[in-house]
Amino acid sequence: MKKTNGQEIIQLFESWSPKKLAAMDNDPIGLHVGNLNKPVTKVLVTLDVNDVVVDEAIAAGCELIIAHHPPIFRKLSTLRTDTPQGKLFEKLIKNDIAVYAAHTNLDVAEGGVNDLLAEALCLQNYEVLVPTYSEEMFKLAVFVPVDQADQLREALAKAGAGQIGNYDSCSYTMQGEGRFRALAGATPFTGEVGELHVEQEVKVEVVVPKSIKSKVLRAMLNSHPYEEPAYDIIPLETAAKEMGLGRIGKLPSSMSLKQFAEHVKVSLQVPAVRVVGDLTSTVSKIAVLGGDGNKYIHTAKRAGADVYVTGDMYFHVAQDAEAIGLQIVDPGHHVESVMKVGVANKMQNLCQLQKLNCEFIPSKISTEPFQFV
Ligand SMILES: [Zn+2]
Repeated sequence: MKKTNGQEIIQLFESWSPKKLAAMDNDPIGLHVGNLNKPVTKVLVTLDVNDVVVDEAIAAGCELIIAHHPPIFRKLSTLRTDTPQGKLFEKLIKNDIAVYAAHTNLDVAEGGVNDLLAEALCLQNYEVLVPTYSEEMFKLAVFVPVDQADQLREALAKAGAGQIGNYDSCSYTMQGEGRFRALAGATPFTGEVGELHVEQEVKVEVVVPKSIKSKVLRAMLNSHPYEEPAYDIIPLETAAKEMGLGRIGKLPSSMSLKQFAEHVKVSLQVPAVRVVGDLTSTVSKIAVLGGDGNKYIHTAKRAGADVYVTGDMYFHVAQDAEAIGLQIVDPGHHVESVMKVGVANKMQNLCQLQKLNCEFIPSKISTEPFQFV
């Protein structure tokens, strides 16, 4: 296992949850406090950064905190250390603890907050509720001698080409004849200089998302036996897998709204939920959106959700939901804390794959300000 630093850890984090996935304008994501140019051995993963969480980070010896809610959400006009926020930053800096925030990019990322919530609610075959990002796709078609086709297909798949939904290594192959004449100065893999050569070739086609296009091309050129491989890259109209906020899926078996409310309480570990709807109605299709999902009641209704699970529901929005016949379960905003264990596990696995020596600790501090009496 290798020693690592803040830059490396965040690079790894952003390979999974890149900033480009942010679903709101000027989302204040990235490094908020301190710097990343230092060795990092322990990272605390938290929903919010408050005084108690910083004490937890100090006690555990963490050099870095990864938080879902950005500690500097609105621009600071002063940095006075006689205010609670100023004091917090003072403590972080004095203890050389950096804070990195991943907000809506982590909501959207695969395996991020919304996927974790959908998993916690045991939703099956869930999909994105509010698409916010889809990546441009290309088709790579490359011509290769029959005997070298396997190694080429393997290299393309290893670089990430040919991923369609829950399938990888997807490709299509057609047989044909390649013709070429090597000119003076060439060192042909097959055929003689100056002679027209006919080679049994196949055309291998794979889909390639824009973000890995150069990586895939490099892999193709490295594994291709020819000096001058022939290939086409064609932009596709078909979108890549869409990514976005919220998820919608089915419960393993239908239940009453009342039973579902209990299921939410147990699965998301909350003492109470607010419910809009008929407690005796049968529900099976569930939409869930972490945090404040007021904006998306109509999206959830159009998507055919029997219930929409989201936090911070306003009184009037709850009335609107009732009016359009959408049932609501509001477990509060704090259920996003599922990200603590989810992100810590994901990052621990990514580090293990890269043989980086770093421990990710899910914060044990509840940052829920509400209590039920
Ligand atoms: Zn939130």
